[in-house]
Amino acid sequence: MIDRHQLLPIAALGVAALLGSAAARAQDAAPAIDPAEFRSCLNGLKTTPAFSRISPATFAQHTDGLAADPSVLVLLDRQPEFTLPVWDYLAVLVDDERVADGRAAYARWQDTLQKIEQQTGVAPNIVVGVWGVESNFGQNLGGRPLVQSLATLSCFGRRQAYFRGEFAAALRILQEGHVPADKLTGSWAGAFGQTQFMPSTFFANAVDFDGDGRRDIVDSVPDALASTAKFLQNAGWRPGQPWGFEVRLPPGFDTSGASRKNKQPIAAWRRAGLTLASGQPLPDDLPSAGLMIPAAGGPAFLVGRNFDALYRYNASENYALAIAHLADLIADPAAPIAFVTPWPTDDPGLSRAENRELQTLLLARGHDIGSADGLIGAKTREAIQAEQQRLGMKADGRAGQKLLAALRRRE
Ligand code: CA
Repeated sequence: MIDRHQLLPIAALGVAALLGSAAARAQDAAPAIDPAEFRSCLNGLKTTPAFSRISPATFAQHTDGLAADPSVLVLLDRQPEFTLPVWDYLAVLVDDERVADGRAAYARWQDTLQKIEQQTGVAPNIVVGVWGVESNFGQNLGGRPLVQSLATLSCFGRRQAYFRGEFAAALRILQEGHVPADKLTGSWAGAFGQTQFMPSTFFANAVDFDGDGRRDIVDSVPDALASTAKFLQNAGWRPGQPWGFEVRLPPGFDTSGASRKNKQPIAAWRRAGLTLASGQPLPDDLPSAGLMIPAAGGPAFLVGRNFDALYRYNASENYALAIAHLADLIADPAAPIAFVTPWPTDDPGLSRAENRELQTLLLARGHDIGSADGLIGAKTREAIQAEQQRLGMKADGRAGQKLLAALRRRE
C-alpha cells in the first residue's frame, strides 16, 4: 500500500507481487551504478532536513558498506506491457483459495478483530479483505531490503525527492526499533509488512495493538490488522455503512455519466429505477453513492464513502472492488464468487489454482518458466504468447480460460 495518489506508476506494487507482474524483468537492463557516486550521494543526504530525525549512528549502521540495487531503477521506469482487464484482477485476487483463507483468518483472529472494530469502527471482514489482497494474509510481504531499495531510489532515477522522504522514514522505523533490520523487506518501491504500507504511511497510521511498545506490522498480526483499520479510519471510514453493492440498472438507463465520484442520495437512485442486483429495493444503510461500471456491459455497482476509503489503499478501483468483494464473501459463506451480471467477456480470467495448472501444462510442453507458482511473470507470458501463436489465437500473453482449455485438450 502506497501513497498512490502522489505516485501512480509505483502504485500497483503493493499488490503487484500477488499478480506476478513486476519483478521478473528487473535483471534485464539494469544500469551500471558508480559506487563512489552512490556513496557521495548518501553522504550528502544525511545532513539534509529530510534526515534530521535520523542520528548519525543510525545512518552509519544501516548505510556503511551498502551497495546500490540498480534493478529497482528498471522497475521504476517499467512501462506496463498491457493493462489487465478487471475480470483478470478479480479472478486472481478473489478466488476460492483466498476466500477460504480469509474465512479461516477471520475465525482465528475474531477476538482481536472485534476489539479493533470497537476502537476504529471498521468491520472485521473489511480488515481481513484488505489483508488478503495486500499480502495474502501475511504470506507475501516482498523480499527486497527496504533500506537498499529506497537508498538507491533516493540517489538515482525519477522521484528522488519522494523516495528520500521514504528512505528517511525507513531509517526512523529502524532507529525506533519497530521492525528488526533483517525483517524490513518489501516491494521494490518500499511497501512493506502485512499491510504493505510505505514508511511514511507507517508513521501516519501504524499502531501498537499488542502493547509491546513497537508498531510491528511485519511480525505482529494484531499490530498489522489494527494499523489497516486505522488507515481506513483516517481515510474517512463510516462505521456501519456498507462499501456499496451490485445493482441492476433499468432498461435503457444512460450510463454515460457513471462515476464513483458523482454521488447522489440513495433515494435519487431509487427514483431512477435502480435496484439491488437481486431485484430487491436499494437499502437505506448507504446514504449516498456513485455509480461505478468497471467494464461497459458488465456488472454495475453503487459505491459509497467507504469504497473511497478502500480506494485510498491502492488508488485503483479494481483493487478496491477486489477488497470489497472479498470482504463480502468472507462475511457471508453463502455468497457466490460471481457477480449477478457476468463480465463482458467470452474468455474469463484464471484463479491462482488455474494459473498453476496452466503453468504446469506449459512446463510439460517444454517451456522454461521456472516453477508453477501461480504468478504470471514475464517468462510465463512469453510461453503463453508462443502457445497462442501456435494455436492461432491472439498472441497477447494473457492467461485466460480459452488457452487453458486448449492446453487441457492437448491441442
Ligand atoms: Ca506491537
